[in-house]
Amino acid sequence: MTSKRKILIIYTGGTIGMVKDHSSKALKAFDFSQILENIPELKQLDCDITSLSFDDPIDSSNMNTQYYVQIAEMIEQNYEQHDGFVVLTGSDTMSYISSAISFMLEYLAKPVIFTGSQLPIGYLRTDAKENLITSIEIASAHRDGLPIISEVCLYFEYKLYRANRTTKLSAEQFEAFASMNYPPLAESGVHLNFNQDFLEVPTHTKKLIIRKNLCSDIVIIKLFPGISIKVIESILNVKGIKGVILETYGAGNAPNNEEFIKLISKAIGEGIYIINVTQCVGGSVLLGHYETSSQLKEIGVIDAKDMTTESATAKLMYLLGIGIKKDEFVLYYEQSLRGEITNK
Ligand code: ASP
Repeated sequence: MTSKRKILIIYTGGTIGMVKDHSSKALKAFDFSQILENIPELKQLDCDITSLSFDDPIDSSNMNTQYYVQIAEMIEQNYEQHDGFVVLTGSDTMSYISSAISFMLEYLAKPVIFTGSQLPIGYLRTDAKENLITSIEIASAHRDGLPIISEVCLYFEYKLYRANRTTKLSAEQFEAFASMNYPPLAESGVHLNFNQDFLEVPTHTKKLIIRKNLCSDIVIIKLFPGISIKVIESILNVKGIKGVILETYGAGNAPNNEEFIKLISKAIGEGIYIINVTQCVGGSVLLGHYETSSQLKEIGVIDAKDMTTESATAKLMYLLGIGIKKDEFVLYYEQSLRGEITNK
């Protein structure tokens, strides 16, 4: 008989554990005991559950890189003693957080499942119970003694996604997330069906490495028709800026007037990394496909291919934090490191 799987729940905050403030009537993060009390069903699961919590749970709008490091360290310190991890965060920035954690955990060989909910766990119609219970089941699922999942995922409303492929699409529906460029890794119905062909398979026997150095000297510029060159120029002139996520149109298109191209080219010449990410939730940048992107390619804009903005931002913070040379940076950025880009 195999022993029970050991699962660690890490609670950082978010709606799942929130309660209404009596005076302001606004939802605010509460402590973790609230969650466990509200799901006595957890005791029926065939695994040993332990939990850790942020001292002061937060709304995920307050997330920053120090908290990312805190989550990664909680996993690191408990990695050997546990078979899987479930991380509870607010859904608002869950795609950013989980994408970052996917880059920070190098040579991961165990499941790390992010989840949360749209309604607090104490509410009658809450989505929290199903999200949490199934996430724990996924984190403890194994075959031939090995975990079925060995990557960072996000589970919400019956679907398991690769975390760095997700985007929050709805502030209203229980089905809050989508992964437009990669299929779900599992779907939960009467059975829990894993999409085996799409899972990351660890091909290494290396020890887990936690990359804790993240660079926040970056910015996201979302283009829109009529955007002022002066505004872009002043952003690019901010002292110490190291990278820009340029959210372009469609297949990576941007204005191709001389003024704009010169400005971007100058920034690249000054050592700022400019990353081309599409504003579309699905599809890919195809640099050079249209005239309005060929010059971007020529001047050295980096191609994020079919990465989400969340993942592209996390990858920029991660690669800048490692501190590699320019050619290596471009090479790594444009290839898939954690399954975040579709290999064509
Ligand atoms: N504002 C909340 C948060 O992101 C929303 C949620 O948890 O779904 O912390």
